Order: sequence, then structure tokens, then C-alpha cells
Amino acid sequence: MADLKTDIRYIKGIGEQRAKSLKKLGISTLFDLISYFPRAYEDRSVFRTIGSLLPEDTACVRALVISTPRLSHIRKGLDLVKLRVADESGSMDITFFNQSYVKDSLKYGVYYVFYGKVGGTLHRPEMVNPVFEPEDRAGSITGRIVPIYRLTANISQNILSRAVRQGLDEVGDNIPEVLPEKLRESFNLANADFAYRNIHFPADMESLELARRRLVFEELFVLTCALGLLRERKAEKKGIVPNTADIEGFYSALPFSPTGAQRRVIGELISDMLSGRPMNRLIQGDVGSGKTLCAAAAAWYVFKSGFQTAFMAPTEILAQQHYNTLAELLSPLGVRIGLLTGSLTAKRKREVKTALALGEIDLIVGTHALLSEGVDFFSLALAITDEQHRFGVNQRSLLTEKGENPHVLVMSATPIPRTLALIIYGDLEISIVDELPPGRQPVETYGVDERMRPRIMKFVRRLVSEGRQIYIVCPMVEENEALNVKAAEKYYEQLKTRVFPDLRLALVHGRMKASEKDAVMAAFVRGEVDILVATTVIEVGVDVPNAALMVIENAERFGLSQLHQLRGRVGRGKHKSYCVMFCEGGSENPRINIMVKTNDGFKISEEDLKLRGPGDFFGSRQHGLPEMKIADLSADMRLLSEAQSAAAELLKSDPRLQNPKNRALLKRIKELFEINADIFN
Ligand code: ADP
Ligand code: MG
Repeated sequence: MADLKTDIRYIKGIGEQRAKSLKKLGISTLFDLISYFPRAYEDRSVFRTIGSLLPEDTACVRALVISTPRLSHIRKGLDLVKLRVADESGSMDITFFNQSYVKDSLKYGVYYVFYGKVGGTLHRPEMVNPVFEPEDRAGSITGRIVPIYRLTANISQNILSRAVRQGLDEVGDNIPEVLPEKLRESFNLANADFAYRNIHFPADMESLELARRRLVFEELFVLTCALGLLRERKAEKKGIVPNTADIEGFYSALPFSPTGAQRRVIGELISDMLSGRPMNRLIQGDVGSGKTLCAAAAAWYVFKSGFQTAFMAPTEILAQQHYNTLAELLSPLGVRIGLLTGSLTAKRKREVKTALALGEIDLIVGTHALLSEGVDFFSLALAITDEQHRFGVNQRSLLTEKGENPHVLVMSATPIPRTLALIIYGDLEISIVDELPPGRQPVETYGVDERMRPRIMKFVRRLVSEGRQIYIVCPMVEENEALNVKAAEKYYEQLKTRVFPDLRLALVHGRMKASEKDAVMAAFVRGEVDILVATTVIEVGVDVPNAALMVIENAERFGLSQLHQLRGRVGRGKHKSYCVMFCEGGSENPRINIMVKTNDGFKISEEDLKLRGPGDFFGSRQHGLPEMKIADLSADMRLLSEAQSAAAELLKSDPRLQNPKNRALLKRIKELFEINADIFN
């Protein structure tokens, strides 16, 4: 019996060349090979008689070759092999294109099993390029459910499935069982041996389903346990402990009173920071729920003990705005605040860096410029990043390296279902701000088509005459910024000269210099602009309470979470607010309808996830987690939460997996750690 780590070249038919190709698919060892799961299956298990075939059917038939296969050379690049087969119910023509070798592999007077799509007519069925096996050796590519793998150059379905079959034979009963027996029993899961064999070569559909369920569970369970161990390991580090301070001192300086949810979350942050371990926490909350205030409270708390905080935002505009907000909240309390972004002059950057290193700045707000060399802190105790999914795990850890085990606080802009957050941000504890500040009215939302345009433009006028301000988000032409900017400029000109020549319009887009953007935004904030025409640069963060209408062009081109973010730009003040989305189908458009029906960001992201799948949702594997081999996070939500509760229970009884019963699981996790070592540091 072969060891699972055995090199793939051990398999018959896999030499140097094919091993190289397989490596591209992530297959180097026998274990990789048997864990390379099919992407689909073809059910070739049902046999039919020739007489029962209908055109367009796909079927297996057992038939006798009744004419000697004839090869004809039609022209250069076109060879045909033709033959005739029959069973007791009828006969059928078979043609192979450019597979002249079959002339010699199919023998007159012998029975074969053919599988393929039926063509021809009702009375003269035929098959083109079927797969076939001699009847006495059938059952490997015909007459059963056949796996379909994702391929690469040089590797065909046949090569791969033969290799997997041999791989499974070679490992014998060495397939490791990482799920404790009791757990398998209580969740009704097949054992490993059954699962690995049936996921490739299922005995029937039911076995396939059992195998899949077990393997999805296994994958999610192992990952969740790994992340749990990781949290456990981080918890061993020593955290900076600030002196206790009275948070009421902070609250009483605010222009409003914090919501219950904010108080609760701030309480969680404080108790984390006082725990003696580094805090590792994610704040989730819908747009406008007031996450920034929670961060400000934490910064104030460490400031009271003379420690510094770094606050990193993904864009210049956002950094600037956070800087303004935080300065307004915290300067009166004596907090010295600095701003560090790429667009500062070299001289200004130097000054800020010096002040930071000398401890003359208590809270530094910035972009990823904060990560650069030469940015040194006097006493960094708290590292905050906003809009986390744009940064990625590595950048987050770069920021923490600027101090000694500083507390880490991450704020997510996109609310996502909790089960999924546990995976994406698996090394973080989660706090949820699940309450909006009082007096917020839901944004009234409409999906409309072109016929409504005149009415909407009239509505824009009316709101402006009432003193409100409007966002109009430009048509997206494609995922190409340069082209989008062109379209935006053209559209802006049109609005300005033809539709609203008497109103004050301004344009902001992603290709403008930061200083230009800021100037436009600042004018909008001061109320000197009625209508801000924008590409999606306003998507995150910006806060203009007087803005009461968001018009989105080509709404069908945006992701739902993005639309929700955009909509979150209005309804931030006391005015009744609206969001109008131009889209194909108007109110009938099912995606847009989700937006119309709910203002709840968590629900929307769940729907978005269902529609787009998690890979797409989070961009290329920015989060740095291992790739899912079989689990589909959007479809397997239910199994995910089962696996998570099973993992939590197991870790409760054996937090470091030292029980010999969990040895196989620990081994698997260590292998995962090895591959993704960078995120587990
Ligand atoms: P987000 O969670 O989207 O980052 P912000 O932190 O930007 O939300 O807050 C949105 C707006 O709500 C800001 O204008 C902020 O000043 C205001 N705000 C935050 N907390 C409260 C509160 N408790 N009462 C009233 N307004 C609040
Ligand atoms: Mg925010």
C-alpha cells in the first residue's frame, strides 16, 4: 500500500511530462490526486436498446459491430471512419471524425458498449464520435456515472480518471479519517474511504450525494478547526494593557448619544484590550450604523494611557474624511491627530513621520502609505483598518508589525453573513453593530426603465429647489476605468448643457488627482454643488447629510453589495431620501427588486452571494485562505454552520487537539498550515 505523500510519478502512465502538467492542477502527491475532485459527472449508467433511441438522446447502447469499419480520407485534415452496429432491436450508423485509429480498435463481429449523443432520424439513428469499450471490459468509461475533471494541456479525462482510479487502488485503506467517529454518527456522515472512492466513481447518485456531503463537511470542518487553533495560538501572545478609563467621559463629549449597539460593541473592544491578550476583532455593521464611532472610542481609550493608534483607510478621500470626522470627535478631548497619505508633499510627510516617531501624534489616519518604510511609531497600541476586504490579510499584518503585538481592529464595509465572516475573517472575533442611529428612515428605492427618465429628471429638479443635493452615478460601460471616465465626462457634459443648464453640477471620477477630487467633494459638502455626477469613487464612506437622492445609471452592471453601498450615501441626515436605479426591465428586474424590497445590508449580501458566488464576491483570493476544493460557500451555507458548530464543540473539549483521537485531524491541519504558512504567522 502506497503512502499518501508518494510522488505522482509512481502512477503508471504518469512520467516527467505529465507530472509537470498535473502540477499545474495542484497535483503532486497521491493524496493531491485523490483529493482532486470532479467538477461534474456524466450519468452513463443507463442502457438503452437501439430501437428505443430518439434523436437528441444521450445514451449507452450494447451493440455488435456488423460492418468492417471503413476509413476514408475526405481531404487534408478530414478523415472519417464509418461502421454499422446492431442489437436485437435495430441498427445504427456510427461515424468518427479524425480518429482513424478506431478503425483498428473496433472489430467486426464483436460486442461493444457505446456512449454518445444520438443524431440522424427516428428511423435511422446514428452516433458521432461516441466513447466506447469492449463489452467484456466495460464499466470504466461507459455503463456507470463518470467523473468529469477540470483539465489542463496534455491531460485528458481518460488519463486523469485512470490515474485517480489507480491512485485509489494504491492507497488502499490508507485514506485518513479526520472526522472522529462520534461526530460522523451525529451528523450522519459517510466515512472517508467511502467518500473518496464514491466522489470519483460513484456507485449511484445516492452514493455520490453522501460522498459529497461528507467531503464538503470535512473541508469546512478542517478549515474552521484550523482557524480556531490559530485564534488560540494568537491568544497566547501578550497584549498591551491600557489603564482603565471611564468611557462615559468619551460619551459625554459626543454631539449625540451612542446607540445601544455602539455601546455594546465599544464595551467588547474595551474588555478585549484589558484582557492581557492582543485584541483581534472585526466590526461588522450596515452602512451608516456608526462603526467609525466605535473605532474612535477605542482610540480614545488607549490615548488615555498615552498610547498611539493607526487608522488605515483604502482611499485618499476616505482617509481625509475619517481624519475630519475623528478630528471633530477627538480633538476637543485632547487627542492629537495626524494625516499621512501618498499625496502629501515630501516635506509634510517627513514632518508627520517625525512627529509620529516622537509620540507627538496620538492618532494617525492614512492610506497604505502608513505601511511604508520609515513610518515608525513611538508606542503603537491599536491598529485599525477600515474596509478590510480591500486590503487583504497580509497588509493587515504589515500594519501590526509597526508595533509590538498591537490590538487589531478591522471594520468591514460589506456586511456579510456571520457564518461566512467566520471563514473570511476566521482569525478574528466578530462584533456586530446591528442598530442604526435613531431617526433614520429607510431610503425609498425604485427600479425604473428609460420611460421614467423625464419624470425622474423632474424629481431631481424638485428636490434641488427644496434645497437638497443629488448624486448621479454614471453609466458603467465596462470594467475599464479609462473608458468609464470617458463615458462619465460625456454624460456629464450632456447633463450640464442640455438637462440642467441652470443648476450647479460637478463631476468627480477615479482618474482625477486626489487634490482635485477633494476640492470637488469639499464643494459638495459645503453645499455649493447641487448635483454631483460621479463614477463609483463615492461608493464608500463619504458623508453628506443633505444629499437626499441617489440616481444610479446602468444599475444592472453593479453588484448588489455595491449598490447597497451607493444607496448608503443618502439617508444620512434628517431628510427623506430616495434611490432610483435605471436598469433593464425597471421594477421587473429581479436583482434590482431585491434592493427595492430591503434596506438590510446583511440580507442583500446573502442574495448577492447566492447570485455571484463567493470567489467573485471577494475578488481574487485576497483573503489568503486556502482554496475550497469542493465546498461552495454560497450553496453549502447549511453544512457550513453545522461544521462550524461541530468544530466549536470539538475545540471546547480539546482546544489544542492533543487528544490521540484527534491526531489525524491535527495532522491534516498542519498540512494546511504548511501550504498557507504566510497567513498563519
Ligand atoms: P458606517 O458604519 O457606515 O461607517 P459612520 O460611522 O460613517 O457609519 O456613521 C454614519 C453617520 O452616523 C455619521 O454621520 C455619524 O456621525 C452618525 N452617527 C454615528 N453614530 C450616531 C449616533 N449614535 N447618533 C446619531 N448619529 C450617529
Ligand atoms: Mg464607514
